[in-house]
Amino acid sequence: MNLSILYRGPLASCNYDCPYCPFAKRRDPPELLRADRAALARFTDWVAATTDLRLSVLFTPWGEGLTRRWYREAMVSLSHLPHVQRVVIQTNLAARVDWLADADRAAAALWTTYHPGQVDRARFLSRCARLSELGIRHSVGVVGLPAHLDEARALRAALPDAVYLWVNAAEGHRYTAEEEAAWTALDPHFGFSVRPHLSLGRPCHAGETAVSVLGDGTVRRCHFVPTPIGNLYDGSWRAALRPRPCPAAVCDCHIGYVHLKPLGLRDVFAGGVLERIPAVWPAP
Ligand code: SF4
Ligand code: SF4
Repeated sequence: MNLSILYRGPLASCNYDCPYCPFAKRRDPPELLRADRAALARFTDWVAATTDLRLSVLFTPWGEGLTRRWYREAMVSLSHLPHVQRVVIQTNLAARVDWLADADRAAAALWTTYHPGQVDRARFLSRCARLSELGIRHSVGVVGLPAHLDEARALRAALPDAVYLWVNAAEGHRYTAEEEAAWTALDPHFGFSVRPHLSLGRPCHAGETAVSVLGDGTVRRCHFVPTPIGNLYDGSWRAALRPRPCPAAVCDCHIGYVHLKPLGLRDVFAGGVLERIPAVWPAP
C-alpha cells in the first residue's frame, strides 16, 4: 500500500522576513528546537521501521527546516530507504544544498519557493543551478502578488525549461481576468490555485492514502481538517484509513487539493505529487 505523509513538527521559525508570513524572522527557543529535533528523530525511526508500506514523505514545517541539521540528515537518511519512494521538503532555499550529494536522487526532492525582497534572484538561481547539477528534482514557486510579477517573469526566463515554476494565488487577492492570464502564462496550472475548491462532501484521498502527522504523532486527514484520526506511534492510524468525503467548505492549498479526487490532480502531477512537478513537463 502507498501512503503519503505530510509531516509538521513544532519548529516555527524562519530566517526570512516575508511580509505575507506569520513565521517571518521568528526565533524558536532552544527547548523548542530540541523538541523539534527529538520529534523528527522519532518520526524518521518510525519511517525506517515501517517497511510494509511504500511511503512518500513531505516535510511542511512552519518556517524553514533546512537551516537545521536534523532536517538535512532526515532527508538524506530517508532517501536511502528502499520502501521510501520520495522524501521532499518545502524550503526557501536559503541554505546551501551541497549536502544533497549524499542523498539518493531517485527519492530526494525539493519544493522551493522564491521570495523576492528576501534574496537576490541571482543567488536563488545559483542554488537552483546547483540542484540541477546534483540531479535533484525540484520545483520552484512564487506567491502571485502583483509586486512579484516582474521577478517571476525574470525567474521563469532564467530557469531551464525542464524546471517547473508554480504560482500560488496570493491569499485575499482577487485576480482580474488579465492578471490571471498573466500568471497563467508563467504557470499553466495557476487556474487550480486562483479560486478555492468547493470540497464539502466531495471524496478526497486525504485520510485514505495521504495523512498529516504532527510532532507528537497525531494523525489527521490533512493539515486543514483538525480532527485527529489516530496516532502514528500507537498504530491507531491504520484502522482509521478509509475513503471519506471532505468535511470542510473549501480547500485552497495545493498540498490539500492535490488529493481532492474530482480534480484528478494526482494524474496531472503523477510521479511528482509531493514536490509539485507535473507528469508532463515541459508542457507540450
Ligand atoms: S520563507 Fe517561508 S516561512 Fe520564511 S518568512 Fe517567508 S513565507 Fe514565511
Ligand atoms: S479536500 Fe482538502 S480540506 Fe478536504 S480532506 Fe481533502 S485535503 Fe483536507
